[in-house]
Amino acid sequence: MSVNLQTPIDYLKGVGPNRADLLRSELGIHTYQDLINLFPNRYLDRTKYYKISELQRNNAEVQVIGTIVGFREVAQKRGKRLVADFKDDTGMMELVWFRGQKWIRDSINIGKPYVIFGKTNWFNGKFSMPHPELELQEEHEKNLRSAMQAIYPSTEKLSNKGITNRVVTKIMQQLFLETKGHFVETLSDSIKGELKLLSKSEALFNIHFPKHQDLLSRAQFRLKFEELFYIQLQLILKNLIHKSKIKGFVFDKVGNYFNTFYNEQLPFELTNAQKRVLKEIRSDLGSNAQMNRLLQGDVGSGKTIVAFMSMLMGLDNDFQCCLMAPTEILSVQHYNGLKKWCKTLDISISLLTGSTKTSDRRIIHENLENGNLQILIGTHALLEDKVKFKNLGLAIIDEQHRFGVKQRSKLWKKSPSQSSQREDAKIVLNRYRTARPSTYKLMKELQQENKKNSTEAERILWESLRGKKLDAKFRRQHIIDEFIVDFVNLEKNLVIEVDGGYHNLKEQQEIDEIRTLILKDLGFKVIRFSNEQVIADIDSVLNSIGQELKSLPSGEVGGAVPPHILVMTATPIPRTLAMSVYGDLDISVIDELPAGRKPIKTVHRYDNNRLKVFKFMKDEIAKGRQIYVVYPLIQESETMDYKDLMDGYESISREFPMPYYQISIVHGKMKAVDKDYEMQRFAEGKTNIMVATTVIEVGVNVPNASVMVIESAERFGLSQLHQLRGRVGRGAEQSYCILMTSHKLSNDSKTRLETMVRSSDGFEIAEVDLKLRGPGDIMGTQQSGVLNLRIADIVKDKDILEQARYYAKSVLKLDPSLGLAKHKVILNTYRQMSKYRNIWNYIS
Ligand code: ADP
Ligand code: MG
Repeated sequence: MSVNLQTPIDYLKGVGPNRADLLRSELGIHTYQDLINLFPNRYLDRTKYYKISELQRNNAEVQVIGTIVGFREVAQKRGKRLVADFKDDTGMMELVWFRGQKWIRDSINIGKPYVIFGKTNWFNGKFSMPHPELELQEEHEKNLRSAMQAIYPSTEKLSNKGITNRVVTKIMQQLFLETKGHFVETLSDSIKGELKLLSKSEALFNIHFPKHQDLLSRAQFRLKFEELFYIQLQLILKNLIHKSKIKGFVFDKVGNYFNTFYNEQLPFELTNAQKRVLKEIRSDLGSNAQMNRLLQGDVGSGKTIVAFMSMLMGLDNDFQCCLMAPTEILSVQHYNGLKKWCKTLDISISLLTGSTKTSDRRIIHENLENGNLQILIGTHALLEDKVKFKNLGLAIIDEQHRFGVKQRSKLWKKSPSQSSQREDAKIVLNRYRTARPSTYKLMKELQQENKKNSTEAERILWESLRGKKLDAKFRRQHIIDEFIVDFVNLEKNLVIEVDGGYHNLKEQQEIDEIRTLILKDLGFKVIRFSNEQVIADIDSVLNSIGQELKSLPSGEVGGAVPPHILVMTATPIPRTLAMSVYGDLDISVIDELPAGRKPIKTVHRYDNNRLKVFKFMKDEIAKGRQIYVVYPLIQESETMDYKDLMDGYESISREFPMPYYQISIVHGKMKAVDKDYEMQRFAEGKTNIMVATTVIEVGVNVPNASVMVIESAERFGLSQLHQLRGRVGRGAEQSYCILMTSHKLSNDSKTRLETMVRSSDGFEIAEVDLKLRGPGDIMGTQQSGVLNLRIADIVKDKDILEQARYYAKSVLKLDPSLGLAKHKVILNTYRQMSKYRNIWNYIS
């Protein structure tokens, strides 16, 4: 029990400095703990031995018992290789070494039975095994602990340097020896009991040295559950803390704007899903916590009106609202859509994009600050520093995956502060003290610990700051949000961090970065100094702090109440993924299309049917409809794609000649104004066909367009196909989606096309997409770190994830501060993990 799992791996017997370096650089193993968490990729049955005559040409790992008859050296281009003839009673094969030949020759006993293990090659009519693992049969039998041999992740460098699977296994055994296989339990008795889980020690033993399949499965379940449980716990806690701590504006009135619109102007009956979501939003806005809600809804499900009605709630409570969209086209469209409604309601609304004229801009800025402007629609131009609101109450972001985290967080401080930050710091602390006694206690403990262990540099700086050399009051080890900062001046919201030695660690740097980002969001300016800087030249450090103090305004932003945030996305995210990526956001789903929509008829056609497709297009145009023809655009082969697009455009121009037909073209190489002009022509019905690359993917609304032809459809991802299809089917007419491909299709492409033809349900499509591509490629998840799971798999272990979330929720529901005795083990584990905290849950 006395072995500390944070012990550097160098100290483990059999590791030593060279191997330790390799383990660190190749597998990220720094400590005993990291090694224990190196989970096997798979297992091999080591009680199974092959006869040489049974070997197959599939290059799998096998075990053979036999004897070495003799060695030969074979010259090759560079150097020589050592070949041994190896035989059993059914035949002969070769063992081959390219390195370490002398050692092999010296240590092998010719004629004694060995067990060899490795991958076989078929070469010159014979099987051979390069660099086999070799063990005398009698040794092998003594060591054989389990039928199932763990196969660990490895790298080429590791195996080249002789850190074979056997070596890793040996080291692992050594670790179990030194720790006696005792590991601290990390789940509560009640969870273990209810789910009949193995203990932590049993699970770890059996994941590395499984006795049999059943125990292995149970070990895997336990460890996956645990991993997912703590992630969910962290996310849910984050959400709870957020709600208890981040104040929001209270929209408690339902007033004129909302009621008038609802009773007199609603252009259609809302779907039940829309009503439900509006209720969810309403209840968030009425509580005094900041809303952080993700609204998912398939293309055409009617998110815009939900957004608009949410804004009306803000307006009724005398707040300003904004809606940000990722492209100019989209924001113009939103603006035009909402303008009519605003006009009858007498609401002032403006559009701000990159192409807004400077003179108009000035007017917008002014009216935002004096409060005359109620709704602002726009692109990321809204994020510019010059854009300041009088009182921004609600910010809505459409198609959120197009915006980065940093951009989103900028919206937080668009309104001036409501209360002094000193008050706010007190409130935060008091809330902690009462609502989360154990968290508070933990902070205090950490604080003590930090005080005790402060570095030389920290002490030097503190001496000077306390000595009032700067005429400003600093606090030391102060808690802001959930962070303890080294020094803070609350008048100016200036945080000073002095970096200790551990700041060199990569993870710590990441944490520092995110932390700085969050502190910034809370209105603090963070400056850092290294230990060396402080020790070497305290005067210049003080000098630059003084400069900062002078340049900062007093009492700004720190106590600002952030606006409510609603992010909308039309990319359905499978539930399990949403639970992990957005687990700390509240999620609303519009899972119902407005009534009367005719499902889009989707067909798959091969290129050689093109003439029939052209004929069909002509018929539709004759009925007065419009058509999209979309070509792929993939960064890597941009020029090729461009050529395809142009060739396609030419052939369509030939087939649909002027003046009978009008054709628009839009692609990425055009200037924004030209693009807009062409889009506009199409939207106004002046052209019949829009030939485009995927620039039209997001949000564009042309209700009269009823046919979507997707060229080289096999090259698009599922979610992209679904997005594109969503461009049609917006009017009352029957709409069509035609997926054109060549005859050469991979299995995955076939699945994608079949899924599109079969289903129009965005969530079902997203599930298939997730299965095909894995979570890494799904929009918006790349930076989420959801992939950094050690053992669980977000796709395959869906059920375990649901269970883990359920348990995490029930634990926190009963005991939000984890203060109960029976949750002590959970609290301790959580604290332990927070020290080496995963940072990705801050991303949203
Ligand atoms: P998206 O969710 O893709 O943003 P929109 O908000 O653009 O969808 O809505 C698509 C179309 O459906 C719009 O023309 C909108 O006016 C219409 N719509 C929205 N809600 C309803 C409803 N409840 N009944 C009928 N039509 C609706
Ligand atoms: Mg939309």
